[in-house]
Amino acid sequence: MKNNPLSLEHYQRPPLEAPHSADRILLHSCCAPCAGEVMEAIQASGIDQTVFFYNPNIHPAEEYQLRKDENKRYCDKLSIPFIDADYDTDNWFERTRGLENEPERGQRCTVCFDMRFERTALYAYEHGFPIISSTLGISRWKNMEQINDCGIRSAEHYPGITYWTYNWRKKGGSQRMIELSKQEAFYQQEYCGCVYSLRDTNHYRMSQGRTRIKRLVNFYGQNQKESDSIIAKSS
Ligand code: SF4
Repeated sequence: MKNNPLSLEHYQRPPLEAPHSADRILLHSCCAPCAGEVMEAIQASGIDQTVFFYNPNIHPAEEYQLRKDENKRYCDKLSIPFIDADYDTDNWFERTRGLENEPERGQRCTVCFDMRFERTALYAYEHGFPIISSTLGISRWKNMEQINDCGIRSAEHYPGITYWTYNWRKKGGSQRMIELSKQEAFYQQEYCGCVYSLRDTNHYRMSQGRTRIKRLVNFYGQNQKESDSIIAKSS
């Protein structure tokens, strides 16, 4: 890591160009670990950004609160405006009804992304942001194509709004995401967010002889060995 030109310490961030050379973006964020590197990349490009936290999928409420508080804390640190949107869980459960047993990256996730991006696009339209994007795409657990399809579809509801499909994982983005998370000691969540992903991740762990997820207790950098193995896999 020491002389790695893509590491946080050495990386020379190239300025990114948003679609249509826009200088203002509404960034949907799912959590601080995914958002940190994306926010840094946008800020280094001189693009004015506002973070939009709309994630009614996250369960239970205290998990939601911790993920939100951390994201707000990092926005405050970088002086980036943070929009705290609804936690309308009833709507989320309504929209995902019948999809409870879908696997991760399946149809339930499409509905979940659609819901979050539709609200992002609406807010962008009402508040004069020409570009939207999401931090969700930086996670290696996610299907980038699925996320981009949902983002583009949501933006199409509103004239003048474009979803930026930039691949935030590129050029060491995934690695810097982990480095930054360790530097900031962000909460290290172990499931995507909804009650079904919590259930399924626990089933998987138990089938592997592992313990259930311990929520709200793991923070990046606490377990050096585990964090380094994540870095190795995501590089
Ligand atoms: S697994 Fe993640 S993306 Fe899929 S429905 Fe649950 S919270 Fe949403």
